[in-house]
Amino acid sequence: MRCRPRPPRVGIEQEEQMRSPAEWATTGNLLRITRWDEPVMSSPTRPVTDFGDELHQLVADMFRTMAAADGVGLAAPQIDSDLSIFVFNCPDADGRLIHGIVCNPVVTLPEGKDRRLVSEQEGCLSWPGAYQQLARPDFAICEGQDEDGEPVRVEGTGLLARCLQHETDHLHGTVFGDRLSKRSRRRLDEEKERLAPLYPDDWPIHPKRTAGEVDGR
Ligand SMILES: [Zn+2]
Repeated sequence: MRCRPRPPRVGIEQEEQMRSPAEWATTGNLLRITRWDEPVMSSPTRPVTDFGDELHQLVADMFRTMAAADGVGLAAPQIDSDLSIFVFNCPDADGRLIHGIVCNPVVTLPEGKDRRLVSEQEGCLSWPGAYQQLARPDFAICEGQDEDGEPVRVEGTGLLARCLQHETDHLHGTVFGDRLSKRSRRRLDEEKERLAPLYPDDWPIHPKRTAGEVDGR
């Protein structure tokens, strides 16, 4: 997932007991990010059952690729893997930067009087550059397993609540464009098409182009 660029936040915290996204990224490969119109993005994923070296390499690749693309969350289908896993490094409602890895995620959303929808701009690394308003619950609990198969539970507020829902959707073959009205989806697709020249097909292996580079071709 992607948020629009914002001013730097103060009070950023990292959970110290975990390997940081930057540490993961040092052993990761920079990979191409798939787009929504590729079959892997609309197919359900396979549960993660093997928590060994191969999975850890996938996690490293995901953190490296997410950082290069300036994302706050990345799901395995976005680097052409069919496993049920996502990584995130995303601010919550208090501006704390929270990172983690969730395999086989299950999201629980508030119901009844506890359910509050917030409409915010949402974007996706696999439909790069385009944003639309989308209403989602302002709180989400995501449970699954970490990279070693240990139980993990993440409670997300603010952008993190949105990210947990967005990434888990990817693992079910759903993109946020599927949740938009026809009109919003059309606007999203138009914005994506307009900005397409900025994003090479193998982005972020080749970086985003500037408007000047595109005009000068
Ligand atoms: Zn996405």
